[in-house]
Amino acid sequence: MLITQLKSKEAIEALAKGKTVIINCHGCKEVYFPEHEAEKLQKELSADGGVARIITTDYICNPDNLKLQLKKHMDAVEGADAVLVFSCGVGVQTVAGMFESKRVYSCCDTYPLPGFQGVTPLTVNCAQCGECYLNYTGGICPITACSKSLVNGQCGGSKNGMCEVDKNMECGWERIYRKLEKLNRLDVLNCAPKLRKYGNPDAE
Ligand code: SF4
Ligand code: SF4
Repeated sequence: MLITQLKSKEAIEALAKGKTVIINCHGCKEVYFPEHEAEKLQKELSADGGVARIITTDYICNPDNLKLQLKKHMDAVEGADAVLVFSCGVGVQTVAGMFESKRVYSCCDTYPLPGFQGVTPLTVNCAQCGECYLNYTGGICPITACSKSLVNGQCGGSKNGMCEVDKNMECGWERIYRKLEKLNRLDVLNCAPKLRKYGNPDAE
């Protein structure tokens, strides 16, 4: 089980710059999702005309389902500067994986709750760390993609792009670097104080 909580209003507002598309995931109904808070905030974000579309769907953690659900919204997503995802960390990573060249941001933090975790086979993982880092790692989770769960960069032990702890796994931080480079967001790696204060790289 897990619980998702909205990031602060100022953090989400700072992420919602330019033309945006919002994706809400209402899957996993046994898991708490702050539907009403999210809806209120999204109405406020829409008031200035920057939100091109709000998509509410379910099980975005399943890439095949996600592809199907987004089929009729592809024009809006492709035309957007950023995609804001309101879901657990697995959902955000799945969207970020589908849109490799698009800025995909997490608007929630994910916390663990004791209980059944489900049996859905996942291609990415969220360790429910309680402070989602995906907004400054290009949508790749440093907690689960790095063997040491480092949040401040590479340990320096990787060889030929592979992890020193698990030689069958690509170094998570090399993946993060390449992804940020592709997004033209290597600047994010230099904005630690802003990130600590606001939880996102684009706060003023
Ligand atoms: S940083 Fe990783 S573990 Fe933490 S909430 Fe985000 S996806 Fe989950
Ligand atoms: S080699 Fe890369 S993935 Fe492995 S522990 Fe070091 S930083 Fe993490």
